[in-house]
Amino acid sequence: MQQSCNIIIAGAGITGLTAGYELIKKEPKTFVLFDGQRPGGALSTVHQDGWTLETGPNTIVLTNTYLTALISELGLEAETLSADRVSGNRFIVRNKKLIPLPGSPGAFLKTPLFSLRAKLRLFAEPFIKRGTDKDESLADFVRRRLGEEFLTYAINPFVAGVYAGNPENLSARMAFPMLKVLEQKYGSLIKGQFRIKPEDRKPGDLPRAEAPMVTFGQGNQTLTDRLAKKLGSSMKPGSRITRITKKEKKTGEISYSIETETGDSFITNSLILTLPLHVLKGIRWTGFGDLSPDKMLPEVTYPPLSVVHLGFRREDVAHPLDGFGMLIPAAEKMQILGCLFNSSLFPGRTPDDSNFVLLTCFIGGSRNPDFAMEDEGDVYRRVLEDTSTLLGTKGEPVLKRITRWPKAIPQYSVAYQQVYDALAEMEKAHSGLHFLGNFRNGIAVPDCVRNAVRFAEGLNPSP
Ligand SMILES: Cc1cc2nc3c(=O)[nH]c(=O)nc-3n(C[C@H](O)[C@H](O)[C@H](O)COP(=O)(O)OP(=O)(O)OC[C@H]3O[C@@H](n4cnc5c(N)ncnc54)[C@H](O)[C@@H]3O)c2cc1C
Repeated sequence: MQQSCNIIIAGAGITGLTAGYELIKKEPKTFVLFDGQRPGGALSTVHQDGWTLETGPNTIVLTNTYLTALISELGLEAETLSADRVSGNRFIVRNKKLIPLPGSPGAFLKTPLFSLRAKLRLFAEPFIKRGTDKDESLADFVRRRLGEEFLTYAINPFVAGVYAGNPENLSARMAFPMLKVLEQKYGSLIKGQFRIKPEDRKPGDLPRAEAPMVTFGQGNQTLTDRLAKKLGSSMKPGSRITRITKKEKKTGEISYSIETETGDSFITNSLILTLPLHVLKGIRWTGFGDLSPDKMLPEVTYPPLSVVHLGFRREDVAHPLDGFGMLIPAAEKMQILGCLFNSSLFPGRTPDDSNFVLLTCFIGGSRNPDFAMEDEGDVYRRVLEDTSTLLGTKGEPVLKRITRWPKAIPQYSVAYQQVYDALAEMEKAHSGLHFLGNFRNGIAVPDCVRNAVRFAEGLNPSP
């Protein structure tokens, strides 16, 4: 029998859970939140033999007040751990050596990370004219403003770390909107850094330098577990949505009925879809005419990414691991995209912090998608080759674990505006239908939270 409720949310990642929590907090409503697997989506913490392993996001940077308020409201402040001060040190690999990313103008002048030519090129940035191409790739934007070497040794590894992406494909405007604001409003990224005003940032955003980096004592899944607990029996995990049907009564009233693999059928006037775009494209849509996600949405790349956890005895790693981690430019032709030094960031990630260290390496992404899905033995062998060369790891790790994300993170590529336009057009055509998630207005956890809270407050998530 079909059950009726005020709101249905599809997808219980951080976006769906936050939207659900915020909507019922304001006013009790009947609602159901379906997830094909378990609540949490990308946020997933594994506890194994005394190790705390993040298989999705490892660190949460409190870049906006919406996330800080949510953590406080959920009573999670006491469980929050702030990253150690060493997290300010970030390493980039050049010529197979870890070089600290310069944190001050003096350090920039001295760093061997960039050649003299590249440094001089950077000083020319304030004199370069504003670009006129509205949808330029990030690589073209950086080449134009900062030069080729800066693209190769700063932006390429950074983008691999954030998006598992390739700057040649990502849209500067869609993936890093602040860059375009600085260029168009202040005429320069460097000048803009000093002139930026609060209204240039997204609502609730803090300057990055002031945003604390955190996790929770029991890992990042604590956040989504607590939200799911608050939502109680409204949660329907293990319920993969297979079909969505739009119905219109003679009175003009619109409703949406949802069918799941488990045979559940629910109907609502308000449907919030937080499923990845490739999932939306694969669902059966009935009654939507030509304005359905399978027909409207362009193909969006979600490259595969694998997360490789390696635990070592302290004495088996030569490098002091005195930083956040290392990022590896494509030009270095190595296997891994980057590696986090988790045990240097937060306590309690290993069974005994004085004797063990935990590394989290990322492989695949847009740079090397096939490698992410390769055989376990090959993955460990090739990743360990890199950690041995770069960090001086010796022998077999005491812990190793691979987590595969066959479709990890949506790439906000050049022409991504088509996705935004399609979503807006479908929302306009189908009253009560809403799309929220990491495919719109930012991929980071704080972005997803901000968008969900603002949606629940009836505000435009992206003003
Ligand atoms: C490996 C990795 C590392 C990351 N690192 C960081 C980081 O360090 N910091 C950071 O801020 N961000 C990080 N991110 C990005 C961030 O975690 C995600 O963008 C964000 O969590 C996405 O949340 P979401 O709710 O929009 O989507 P998701 O978490 O993808 O949730 C979508 C949900 O939909 C469900 N679903 C799918 N199909 C169906 C169906 N047919 N029916 C019902 N349910 C379905 C899924 O099970 C899932 O739970 C990382 C992401 C990954 C993958």
